Amino acid sequence: MERTPDAVKGAAIVTGSGRGIGAAIASRLAQIGHPVMVCDLIEDQAEATTRRINRHCGRVIAYSFGVDVTDERRVQQLVETVIQRFGHIHTLVNNAGILYPTRAADISLAEWNSVINVNLTGAFLCSRTVIPHMAAAGQGRIINMSSSAGRSVSTIGGAHYTAAKAGVLGLTRALAKELAAQGILVNAVCPGLIATEMVHSTISSRQIRHFENSFPVTRMGTPDEVADVVQFLCESASYINGAAIDVNGGDLML
Ligand code: NAD
Repeated sequence: MERTPDAVKGAAIVTGSGRGIGAAIASRLAQIGHPVMVCDLIEDQAEATTRRINRHCGRVIAYSFGVDVTDERRVQQLVETVIQRFGHIHTLVNNAGILYPTRAADISLAEWNSVINVNLTGAFLCSRTVIPHMAAAGQGRIINMSSSAGRSVSTIGGAHYTAAKAGVLGLTRALAKELAAQGILVNAVCPGLIATEMVHSTISSRQIRHFENSFPVTRMGTPDEVADVVQFLCESASYINGAAIDVNGGDLML
């Protein structure tokens, strides 16, 4: 496969970027010149986002890849594809996630495992697979999507979601400590309630209004407001490592 001539800035992989926060992140990174691999479990969704980004940027800067982040073999193929196309990976955004509101006593083992697998194990698998390439280049950024849930407790998700997002913070700190010497910085972003399908498909408009009224800023955040922070961590932030950055409008102040 030929190298892409527009790979001026470092290439980025954004998982779960077919919609929501991931799509906003992929779009932002492409707009500021990073070639982006838009990855999602739902391939059509990844392709649609990719087309939208390229149309908006007026050139081909985004590519799509169907991947389940819990599938080790497919994650390996994703990383090999990015290396073949761009020759390097500068940024990995572990954004793919799922949430169920199930109460603890009703969580089946299968549901527990799937929430832990997608949110936490997926972030581990993708990170593990990119590390040798970033280490060989002597630089890289890994940005993990945790949540206010990981810092405290989930507003709308069940115990498995809170446990997984807290695990993402532990993974972030462990990788940050281990990889800094190789030039790789690892941080987590912790959004509060952000207006995406994940929220709208879990709680009613009435419940959303109730939560919004309880927040200091009296509204949900937008995917773009999360992308602002990811952009900063990807492009600047050269002395931030192992941090958990809150993006919650003051809903949770630690
Ligand atoms: P969303 O449900 O709108 O989008 C998630 C995307 O991930 C979807 O496109 C989905 O197809 C994809 N996905 C799911 N399982 C996958 C898998 N196994 N492999 C690859 N892709 C997969 O969710 P969102 O609100 O955009 O959330 C994005 C991330 O931000 C998640 O990690 C979520 O937990 C986190 N987060 C969201 C909020 C919020 O309020 N929306 C708050 C805090 C954290």
